[in-house]
Amino acid sequence: MSSSLVNPLPFNPVLNHLPVYQPGRPIEEVARELGLPAADIIKLASNENPLGPSPRALDAMRQAAGQVHLYPDGNAYYLKQHLAGKLGVAPENLILGNGSNEILEFVGHALITPGSEVVVSQYCFAVYPIVTHLCGGRLVEVPARDLGHDLDVMSRAITERTRVVFVANPNNPTGTLAPADAVRRLLNAVPSHVLLVMDEAYLEFLDEPLDLLPEIRSGNRPNLLLTRTFSKVYGLAGLRLGYGIGRADLVGALEKIRQPFNINALAQAAALAALDDDEHLRRTRENNRQGLRDLAAGLERLGVHFVPSAANFILARVGEGSRVFAELQRRGVIVRPMAGYRLPEWIRISVGTPAENARCLAALTELLRR
Ligand SMILES: *Cc1c(COP(=O)(O)O)cnc(C)c1O
Repeated sequence: MSSSLVNPLPFNPVLNHLPVYQPGRPIEEVARELGLPAADIIKLASNENPLGPSPRALDAMRQAAGQVHLYPDGNAYYLKQHLAGKLGVAPENLILGNGSNEILEFVGHALITPGSEVVVSQYCFAVYPIVTHLCGGRLVEVPARDLGHDLDVMSRAITERTRVVFVANPNNPTGTLAPADAVRRLLNAVPSHVLLVMDEAYLEFLDEPLDLLPEIRSGNRPNLLLTRTFSKVYGLAGLRLGYGIGRADLVGALEKIRQPFNINALAQAAALAALDDDEHLRRTRENNRQGLRDLAAGLERLGVHFVPSAANFILARVGEGSRVFAELQRRGVIVRPMAGYRLPEWIRISVGTPAENARCLAALTELLRR
C-alpha cells in the first residue's frame, strides 16, 4: 500500500516524523492474506470484549436504525443524562468523543502548542505521542519502573512549559496498575497550569478501582480529566464512543473543539442500553478474571515471562515477538506484536473466551516447543 510518489504539497512539517498508529489486524484482512476462512481465525489483538456487544445494545440499535436519515442529537441528551446519573456527576461534566481517542485529540488541540511539553511514561499508550507530535508539542518520556509508570518521577518531570500529563491506569500495553497512593501524590503535585489526564479505559475490570469521581464532584480540580470508553468492558469498540469527565469549565473548553455530530445515532442508542446491562457487564468481568488466570497459568507452564495484568490483556515475553506474532497468525490466532512500543521481545494477548485462550496457548506451546 506504500507509494513511491512524492507529493509536492507543503505538508505540516510535523507529519514528517509522525508515526502511523498500527492497529490490531482485522480478521478479514488476515483471512484474505492467508487464504483461510474468516471463521477459523480468532482475534486477541485489540482488547475487545470476547463476549460481543450487550444484547440490549443490539436491540436498541435495531430500533434506532430506522431513524438514521436524521442527524443524531449533537448533544446526546439522553445518553449524557443517564451516564451522568450513573456516575453521580452533572451532564455538564461530560464530553463525548468518537472513541476516547478523540477526547485525547481534543486535549491536544486545547492545550498542546508548539514548544509545549507533554509528560508521559515509557511504554505509554501509542496515541499520546501521536497527539503530542501532531500538535507540535515536545514529548517528555519518563523511564518506566518494572514496565509500569513511575508517577513520582513523572511529577518531577513537570516544568513551566508542561501542559499535559497523560497516565493510563491500568496501562496499555503493559497491564500495570499504579498504586492508589502514587496516583494521589501525582494528583496533588500537578501544578495548576498542567492538565492531568487519567485514562481509565480499563477501570471497569478492576475489583477495587481508585475512584477519582469525588475529585470531579468537589469542583476543586480544574486541571483533572478522566477518560473512559465503551470500547472495552461494554463491547462496543466498533461504534466508537468514549467520554471525558471533568469540571464544567474544562469540558466547556473541549466542547469548542468537538465537531457537532461526532457521536452517531446508533452509538448513542447502544450505549444508553449497554449502561443498564448489568448481566453482560458481570459476565464480561467474570470471563476476564478467569481468562487472565488461564492465560497466566498457561504461560507459566510454558516458562514464558509475563507481566501480571490489571486489565483485559497480558503482555508476554516470547523472545522474537514479530516472529511469534507471524507464527501465531499462520495458525489463525491474531495477537499484537510490540516492536512499535520498543518491546520487540514481547507480544500482547487480549483475553478471549475460554476456547480462544486455550487455542492461543496451544498454538504458542506448539511453536515455542519447536
Ligand atoms: C483502548 C484504549 C482506549 C480507548 O480507545 P477508544 O478510542 O475509546 O476505542 C483509550 N486508552 C487506552 C489506554 C486504551 O487502551
